[in-house]
Amino acid sequence: MRLFEYQAKAIFAKYGIDIPNGQLVDSHDSIGDSAKKIGYPVVLKAQALAGGRGKAGGIRFAKDDMEAEGNAGILLGMNINGAAVSSILVEEKVDIEKEIYFSITMDRAAKRPVVIVSAEGGMDIEEIAKSEPDSILKEWIDPTHGFHSYHAIDLFKRAGFTGDTLRKLSQLAATLYKIFSEYEAELVEINPLVITRNGRVLAVDGKVILDENGKGVKEFQIQIDAVRDEDLMRYVPLEGDVGILANGAGLTMMTMDVVAHYGGNPANFMEIGGELYKKSEEALDFLLTRKDLNGVLVNLFGAYARTDVIIEGILRSLEKHDTDIPFVFRVRGTGEERARKLLMENLNVEAHDELDEAAKEIVMKAEDYRKRRV
Ligand code: GDP
Ligand code: MN
Repeated sequence: MRLFEYQAKAIFAKYGIDIPNGQLVDSHDSIGDSAKKIGYPVVLKAQALAGGRGKAGGIRFAKDDMEAEGNAGILLGMNINGAAVSSILVEEKVDIEKEIYFSITMDRAAKRPVVIVSAEGGMDIEEIAKSEPDSILKEWIDPTHGFHSYHAIDLFKRAGFTGDTLRKLSQLAATLYKIFSEYEAELVEINPLVITRNGRVLAVDGKVILDENGKGVKEFQIQIDAVRDEDLMRYVPLEGDVGILANGAGLTMMTMDVVAHYGGNPANFMEIGGELYKKSEEALDFLLTRKDLNGVLVNLFGAYARTDVIIEGILRSLEKHDTDIPFVFRVRGTGEERARKLLMENLNVEAHDELDEAAKEIVMKAEDYRKRRV
């Protein structure tokens, strides 16, 4: 599970790693207030689960309200290499003296973590490997001994650092290994790790990928408030813009696959198992808190679950939310006849029989909606 930059940085800050002063903003209106609080000049960073953000225009600077508002408008309507922009991280613009690449990742072949450092940071590691291969230093970690600042000192010395900077970098590296192991991550990466003109060492970017089955991931799987702990409603945000609501984990995965097959990008995984079909109202309420959806596909296959009861919940939720994003339905099984009648009477829509047809339609409609929105 890949985390957003702001989530990665929240972990860094919790462990005492210095990050730029910043604030997360999800609407155009609040950008000026946030930027003023931080103090101009600021950096506006699109939050999207995609690489190559800077090159795609997802990092913008602003020196006043006008620039901040203009750039926020551009960023919020953007799509970065297929990933929707859900929010903007507004940060103080720091004065960069040097950009370093630093990461810890699992080397599957060696079956141990490897630390990678390059004094030529900023670019992607693939590019550094091409243009400055000699600048890349690697050190494998013996997990039984861990990785402490005295290990890191040696590594950063080889990379050419000295004095106070060397000490700060080494301490940060040891802390990052602590995060890597405690969160059971597959990757923690800071690129660039920045040294400022006045000697501050801080994480200007952050990328964390957690093992889906590890313990760290639980903190980021959102528990829906209306649902009790013992019920199984797991929600995992994904990078896409097509919301998925289906009853059962297997059906949800199949729905995600078919949407992807037709060129769409699922926005979430949501498991609504067993009795939870009665909670479709809460489930959709929750899904609609996402500001980056361009469509929702509802795929119901009722056996134990009654599709008409699910549709009633969805209609209640839609009444509360003033949304014009397209919805497409596919309904089969228990309660189907009444479910279809409810959809026709209330939304004037015909539910599909087949998932393929429904997926094709939502991918097309989401694409149209995205174009209209930008
Ligand atoms: P990425 O493209 O998704 O990796 O986005 P980054 O957060 O790594 O930012 C890309 C580049 O923008 C960095 O390598 C910096 O050169 C530049 N940048 C980002 N934040 C700042 C900042 O606060 N000050 C300055 N001067 N440059 C920044
Ligand atoms: Mn970066």
